[in-house]
Amino acid sequence: MFRKDSPADADFRAEAREWLETNLPHTLRGMTARPHPPEIMPWYKALSKRGWIAPHWPKEYGGMGATLAQQIIISDELARLSAPHLPVQGINHLGPILMRYGTPGQKAQHLSRIISGEVIWAQGYSEPGAGSDLASLTTRADDKGDHFVVNGQKIWQTWGHYADWMFMLVRTDANATPKHAGISFMLVDLKTPGIKARPIMNIADDDEFAQMFLDDVVVPKGNLVGPLNGGWKVANDLLAHERLGTSSPQHTMEVLARIDRVSKANGKAADPIFRDKLAALRIKVTAQAAMFWHAVDMIATGQPLGPSSSTMKLVATDNLQAATDLLIEVAGANGADSERLTTDGEPTDVTQIFLQSRRATIYGGSSEIQRNVLAKRVLGLPG
Ligand SMILES: Cc1cc2nc3c(=O)[nH]c(=O)nc-3n(C[C@H](O)[C@H](O)[C@H](O)COP(=O)(O)OP(=O)(O)OC[C@H]3O[C@@H](n4cnc5c(N)ncnc54)[C@H](O)[C@@H]3O)c2cc1C
Repeated sequence: MFRKDSPADADFRAEAREWLETNLPHTLRGMTARPHPPEIMPWYKALSKRGWIAPHWPKEYGGMGATLAQQIIISDELARLSAPHLPVQGINHLGPILMRYGTPGQKAQHLSRIISGEVIWAQGYSEPGAGSDLASLTTRADDKGDHFVVNGQKIWQTWGHYADWMFMLVRTDANATPKHAGISFMLVDLKTPGIKARPIMNIADDDEFAQMFLDDVVVPKGNLVGPLNGGWKVANDLLAHERLGTSSPQHTMEVLARIDRVSKANGKAADPIFRDKLAALRIKVTAQAAMFWHAVDMIATGQPLGPSSSTMKLVATDNLQAATDLLIEVAGANGADSERLTTDGEPTDVTQIFLQSRRATIYGGSSEIQRNVLAKRVLGLPG
């Protein structure tokens, strides 16, 4: 997109393109919602078998240990085929955290099962009374010697009703000041008695997330990640990875490809005002891609991302929503149609993807919260 492949990278691109073309089922291309586990997990496992499920993970943990260029190439090629969104809570969110904070036993137990797709993870942060103000969470874990007993309620867990395990934040000291000093990070097997998950439908009529109820759930002490009452730092490191992951240009590139297809099919591509808007958006997405891959490189070379993960999430989600807005606009009267349009023999969904993109400025910390972070940490404004 903003760089040229070296000869070795061009070979890798050709290899990736051919393998993905051959192996990504056509039924999984161009989907706007994440397919359910029976449909998507065979694809996850196929990528895993090929060694490409975690390009950014080091080889010692079963990743590909890919160069930055190879990571960009895989992402470009997946976007080119409009590949489906994979469950990322294990690969992008928990994996890097376990590599950093996990005990040898936790790494041995969990990392390879994330890579293989044997275990699907959910993220148990938000609660009905604690979203943006996460430190107010009240789900409590009482210390019972060799285990904790957890009681409380979580909400908005992506794939909570499909997941096998959940990483979660719990209150382990009710009297701590500040509030975040009494929070711990732990892992829970969702088959443990006392856990119920109830799916919630989103605006696009997709059961993307769930509410989780925890009643007297026994969690072994060995499932604590990082120090007791030291979960806030672990949680925030994980959020930085989450924000980075959601800033990938891949999804917006897919929307740009849809805009191309629809505008060519209905003649809008010849309209100079539309072309101007599209060019402006492409420039923004190219800049986003450069920023994103620079950040990936920083992580790979051990440099802290700091507040730039907030900048990236803001830019990326603004671009995604601007692209889906333009898609609706270019579709004209079809923009209000929930049926897929057929353009050049390809089905192109315009409404679903618009609806699905609304959530992007909420999850991983809303845009307002990212702006607060930048106001405080970059501009030094009072909190
Ligand atoms: C698709 C999706 C998937 C999600 N997946 C998960 C998941 O897997 N696990 C999980 O734990 N959570 C998940 N969430 C929850 C998400 O993290 C929260 O929705 C988010 O943090 C906002 O919290 P809230 O919904 O409680 O809104 P609130 O915190 O109640 O905020 C409501 C509104 O007020 C604004 N606001 C709040 N505080 C301030 C402030 N100080 N300054 C300015 N504006 C403010 C917010 O920006 C927002 O517009 C998901 C959410 C979505 C939409």
